[in-house]
Amino acid sequence: MLNSIFRHKKALFLASLCTLFVGVGCQTSSTPETPVATEPLRKTRFMMGTSITLSLYDMQDKALLDRAFDKIAELENTLSLNQDNTLLTEVNQNAGIEPTVVTPEMFDIVEKGLHYSALTDGAFDITVGPLVKLWNIGFPDARVPDQEEIDVTLPLIDYTKLELDDETKSLYLETPGMQLDLGSIAKGYTADQIASFLRSEGVEHALIDLGGNLYTLGTKPDNSLWKVGVQDPYNPRGQIIGYMEIANKSIVTSGIYERFLEHEGSTYHHILDPDTGYPFENDIAGVTIISDTSLDGDALSTAIFSKGIIDGLDFVNTLEGVDALFISKDRKVYMTEHLKEIFVLNNPEFSLGTF
Ligand code: FAD
Ligand code: MG
Repeated sequence: MLNSIFRHKKALFLASLCTLFVGVGCQTSSTPETPVATEPLRKTRFMMGTSITLSLYDMQDKALLDRAFDKIAELENTLSLNQDNTLLTEVNQNAGIEPTVVTPEMFDIVEKGLHYSALTDGAFDITVGPLVKLWNIGFPDARVPDQEEIDVTLPLIDYTKLELDDETKSLYLETPGMQLDLGSIAKGYTADQIASFLRSEGVEHALIDLGGNLYTLGTKPDNSLWKVGVQDPYNPRGQIIGYMEIANKSIVTSGIYERFLEHEGSTYHHILDPDTGYPFENDIAGVTIISDTSLDGDALSTAIFSKGIIDGLDFVNTLEGVDALFISKDRKVYMTEHLKEIFVLNNPEFSLGTF
């Protein structure tokens, strides 16, 4: 039986961990001169195919929260592949026909996506759209495609055939049938935009959770660090392998346990190899990236997934200011050197891995 499953596990794991840890953290005592909101102002909505929660800890401004959600809706209405008539679908429909003028925000995100596509030699490729649509993992009609279908689809994936014109802010896919898919980076970009918006409105302590793309804005209201856990990929949401204490960072995870398709005893996850047309096969159950911006974290979590643990870790070690945590399928945990200093592994089912 064909069974398509989309668990909002990732969305919930960091959100629930925030509740678990950040909630606990907020009970720590504060000095009298530090104003501490007893309860954050929090709002959750289902958008971009996931559960999104914004929590303001130093402002009880409901209208501000609503404006932040309006911004998310605006970006979704521009960048979604799952709605008709978005700017993204227009770019895709114009493939092989003509360039499409896009918003400066969309131009920016595509430029960054192209950067990461080139950095991975196309293992990460934002023109992966036709392959993503062929499998449609996460949707009711998800299926394992025939080899013939894969063979005709793969030549359509080629980030070098995406032209960007900085003057006109236009995008052009050279070949009919090509499709941009920003699913690997759009939530990260959105988290950054919301963080920047909230900061510009004077917010200093907030949590931005876009379906597992967590951004910790500032510190907790008492100026201590947020405690953020990393989900145990093999157990129900909220069960973690350990935690770290941080502030002003993005924490993004890509994994095989969130969005997948089960068919005839095999499981197919949603990060697809543009070379084979099938999901990447490696030893990673999940990879978490800690970075200053969520767009980098989102792009890197997907891009590094394509590399496997050894090459992935080598790659992250070349990047300034980026940390990574890998969980292998055999329950080993691998981290960048700096992360080893701040991550507390406290789940006895997992142990530190060595090469
Ligand atoms: P990530 O690891 O960050 O990204 C995986 C995603 O990247 C895949 O799902 C695919 O889209 C893409 N991808 C796969 N292989 C590659 C590759 N080799 N290189 C580059 N990218 C690759 N989901 C719904 O179910 N319904 C919706 O209506 C819906 N609307 C959305 C609207 C927007 C604007 C966005 C950004 C997402 C939406 N989603 C929706 C969710 C989306 O389809 C993905 O599930 C999600 O973005 C994947 O994010 P992730 O963090 O789980 O995984
Ligand atoms: Mg990603």
